[in-house]
Amino acid sequence: MDYQPIRGTKDFLFEQSELYRTIVDSALDTARCYGFSEIYTPIFESSNVFQKTLGESSDVVSKEMYMLEDRGGESLTLRPEGTAPIARAVLSNSLTQSLPLKFFYHGPMFRYERPQKGRSRQFHQIGVELLGPQTPIADAEMIQLGYAVLQDLGLESLVTVHINTLGDTDSRQAYRNALVGYLTPLQDQLSEDSQKRLVSNPMRILDSKNEEDQKLLENAPKLHDFLSTEASSYFNEVQTLLSQLGIPFEVNQKLVRGLDYYCHTAFEFIADSKLGSQNAVGGGGRYDGLIKQMGGPHIPAIGWAMGIERLMLLLEDSIDFEEVKLAVVPAGPEQEVPAFLLAQRLRAEGLYVDMGYSGNVSKRMKKAAQQKALFALILGEDEINNGTITVKDLQSGSQQTVSSEDIIEHMNEAIDAI
Ligand code: AMP
Repeated sequence: MDYQPIRGTKDFLFEQSELYRTIVDSALDTARCYGFSEIYTPIFESSNVFQKTLGESSDVVSKEMYMLEDRGGESLTLRPEGTAPIARAVLSNSLTQSLPLKFFYHGPMFRYERPQKGRSRQFHQIGVELLGPQTPIADAEMIQLGYAVLQDLGLESLVTVHINTLGDTDSRQAYRNALVGYLTPLQDQLSEDSQKRLVSNPMRILDSKNEEDQKLLENAPKLHDFLSTEASSYFNEVQTLLSQLGIPFEVNQKLVRGLDYYCHTAFEFIADSKLGSQNAVGGGGRYDGLIKQMGGPHIPAIGWAMGIERLMLLLEDSIDFEEVKLAVVPAGPEQEVPAFLLAQRLRAEGLYVDMGYSGNVSKRMKKAAQQKALFALILGEDEINNGTITVKDLQSGSQQTVSSEDIIEHMNEAIDAI
């Protein structure tokens, strides 16, 4: 049997798992600062949760969902995104009277896509949802929160905020008709995918990656010319607020987002380089109709999600994870138990301590250096007899004898001095 991970999935080990944890912890801290609390929903849901909400013609529903029938014959889907499950949870937990709701989530998502750099079949997202308010202030606040998450990770200079408005239902319908009217006579020149979308989901043609498609779109009607006065002033207000917040952004009329439930403000965080073709670090938008579509009351909402793997690629070389580590090194078998007990004493004081399970002193010292430990605490026969510990600074090579009683204070001071 060949024990390889499933195509499009991977294990996170060592630095990768540290990066993952750093991203989630940092984003959660930032979101808490804005009044968000965590929500965990199940990794699978009834397939209806996605089929009925994301749109039958969306890429996710039409070709990317991991669906399975369970032993009871129920159709389940591994969640491809976090918004629909949260909307479902708001209804299941009767939270529709407790608005506004502010949720932060993180975890795995599943889409059957062609794997490539920055794109996998099990990937991970951090995300936020704000349910209740329908005001440009909420939209600006959510974009600001995304920007703050990037800032706290030191990534804001690598990413550009793109924003657009998809308008209200009437604006979108009028635009959709105009776009179809413009593209229908040209349909033979469109890419195969776009020809299909002309029937199923014409606005998605706008974000086609095909160059010929993009050329044809140059003279196409523009969505912004079809906005109602209300939709247009809503969008202007969002832009004014972003400027007041000092967030640099670009208006990108081609940003349409893939799912049916979006309206008004849509936005993406796009990496300027480094990620290649999969350059969207995150995206989101307003989805005022979703909860109603699921059978609940009208609850406006807005949210975004960022891909953790893509954030990891951006962060890869810029974070230094050196924990302050001490290695306890027994000189021989008789000192193993005292060394083990010393390690416990140090850990109880919150210090990061490791001790090997076997090997002579030189092997253990080598291992300590490999682990980037800063100090080795050596316990030999003399040290035990004298109640001392030899502390070796692994960077300078200097050595000091410290009384066992003072070791905690000494190590804390030595670490503080670094
Ligand atoms: P979406 O829900 O498609 O807007 O995705 C939000 C973010 O999740 C994207 O901007 C990506 O960073 C990330 N993402 C989406 N699909 C994948 C995937 N297949 N592999 C890795 N990251 C993804």
